[in-house]
Amino acid sequence: MIILLDNGHGSDTPGKQSPDGFFREYAYNRFLASEIHERLTALGIDSRFLVPEREDIPLPERCHRANSICEQSGSNQVILLSLHVNAAGNGQQWMKARGWSCYTTRSETKADALATCLYDAAKTHLPGMRLRTDYTDGDPDIEKDFYIIRHTSCPAVLTENLFMDNRQDVAFLKSEEGARAIVNLHVDGILQYLSK
Ligand SMILES: [Zn+2]
Repeated sequence: MIILLDNGHGSDTPGKQSPDGFFREYAYNRFLASEIHERLTALGIDSRFLVPEREDIPLPERCHRANSICEQSGSNQVILLSLHVNAAGNGQQWMKARGWSCYTTRSETKADALATCLYDAAKTHLPGMRLRTDYTDGDPDIEKDFYIIRHTSCPAVLTENLFMDNRQDVAFLKSEEGARAIVNLHVDGILQYLSK
């Protein structure tokens, strides 16, 4: 199985930062991707960066890259995780919304199973923190047709790792403990999915 890690946005993406400007989403997504990649690689798992570049790569190109790998290796031999940090407002002021969430497309696919594994891992690694869920279709993930998960042919999920415009969430993400929890959550969720 090939694990594709998409670190959303780039250094040239406008906005996508905390109201004080100290937390930049593109940088944090890359930090998460590289930590997760390192851990998976050490376990002998074929993990790859979808976007090694620092600048933003347009979504159609990112999907093209993923789908080329799917064509070569088979869509059922690939999973994709797009890593993000959420925002409740327009980046100008601190907001109240907090929590972790994982998105899949509207249809029922293997991505739903992957998302459920990630939610299970989130319960373990983010004790006491809000997990944002939508159980209307029977599983915890939230259904939304984000471009990257809609236009890739392998099972694909998008994680929103807390809120960059919430002071407590940003403090947690920047702490060693918090960063470790978010990385562990992804690694354990992926391992759980692979063991099924
Ligand atoms: Zn994002």
